[in-house]
Amino acid sequence: MSQKLQVDLTLLKTLSVLYVEDNEDIREQLAQFLRRRVGTLHVAANGQEGLDVFRREQPDIVITDILMPVMDGLKMSEIIKNEEPATPIIVTTAFNEQDYFIKAIDIGIDKYVIKPINTESLLEAVYKSALILLQRREIDAHNRFIQYMLDMNPNFVVVSDLSQVEFINKTFLAYLGYNSLEDFRREHRCIDAFFVKVDGIPYTGENTQKWAETLIASPVVTNHIVYLRTQPNAEPKAFIVTFTQIPDTRKYIFSFTDITQLEQEKLNFAEQAIRDPLTGIFNREKFDTALMQEIERASRYHAPFSLVMFDIDRFKSINDNYGHHAGDNVLRGITALVTENIREIDIFARWGGEEFIILVNGTPLNQSRQLAEKLREIIETFSFSEIGHITCSFGVAEFADDDNEEKLLERVDKALYRAKDEGRNRVAIATP
Ligand code: GH3
Ligand code: MG
Ligand code: MG
Repeated sequence: MSQKLQVDLTLLKTLSVLYVEDNEDIREQLAQFLRRRVGTLHVAANGQEGLDVFRREQPDIVITDILMPVMDGLKMSEIIKNEEPATPIIVTTAFNEQDYFIKAIDIGIDKYVIKPINTESLLEAVYKSALILLQRREIDAHNRFIQYMLDMNPNFVVVSDLSQVEFINKTFLAYLGYNSLEDFRREHRCIDAFFVKVDGIPYTGENTQKWAETLIASPVVTNHIVYLRTQPNAEPKAFIVTFTQIPDTRKYIFSFTDITQLEQEKLNFAEQAIRDPLTGIFNREKFDTALMQEIERASRYHAPFSLVMFDIDRFKSINDNYGHHAGDNVLRGITALVTENIREIDIFARWGGEEFIILVNGTPLNQSRQLAEKLREIIETFSFSEIGHITCSFGVAEFADDDNEEKLLERVDKALYRAKDEGRNRVAIATP
């Protein structure tokens, strides 16, 4: 027992319908019936005319006869289905036209109403088609809404089954320099061609799938940081990557949040924490850490290293005579002179006021003494603008087996004060 369908008349009133029929009597009669029930009715007398009206008016639903002059209903339907596959087409057919059924199925005709037409059946067919059409439109609108939300997301969003990307949102496509997913896909399967660094390690691009699998296997709490480039010469940006599996699929949604600014600030803070603001060289805290590490290394490998400590002679009088600002310039000037004349691996730091210290890696006492002597001479010879010549006193100590940080620093400090005592502008060597 089929249940009688309750046709929603108000819904019918929202529809525009194209009705194509060559027989004038049938056409007039049915048009009159339909016109009272649907929102807008367009009428045509053959397939060609029907197609023209369809293209011009874009109706929601098409009702058409099969056998017609100029262009038959099936030919017209075939063209319409090609152009607008979502448009429901209802065919009215006489019993003697059943040969066309197979063709009609091929084309994708949605419904049939047998001639002579029972108006109630026709209305039911129109209504059922309308329901499907509206449902489809609702889904389309929903999909467009989701796509819009993803596209508008300032984060980069990618959907992937781990072997290739299936979706990239507009924000991300724009960053990567593509207009559409199709454009992107012509050149890439995955986004890893743009990876520069993953979790601090340079990305070699040998195994994208492995990258994604590692990411997925790791605890969610881990923050994965990926650096992505756009153009080969562009500065890579830093992103935090989060992901989630789409339920009941093997697909994942990856979200990339730009943290370039935060990363930069982090680096700046880290840099500030180890630098002396006036001279830009390392500060005492950084030197202490480096010294502890070097003592550990030297003890383990029996590798030599030395400390060179120096202090500007009679610096107070520079401040007194030329002002504090001139004094600052001297501190910066001496720093620059020394930096130019030591190796990159030597750790050069401001120890305090006008006192500096150098950790000379892999270098025994004699060579370090020579370095100190060289620096002493360079400073002595240099002429500071408006102030003229300045000298420094130096202490040098080599790390000994039974040294610790404190003992070593004490010895080099003592050596420096001996250099001062003995008349300044000289190098004194620490006794073990
Ligand atoms: P000595 O040869 O015995 O080392 O004599 P000195 O005058 O250099 O030593 P002293 O310790 O008496 O004076 C150090 C001076 O350095 C005093 C202090 O005001 C100055 N000073 C310390 N830090 C700074 C700084 O950052 N800028 C300037 N302009 N002066 C500083
Ligand atoms: Mg001094
Ligand atoms: Mg001093």
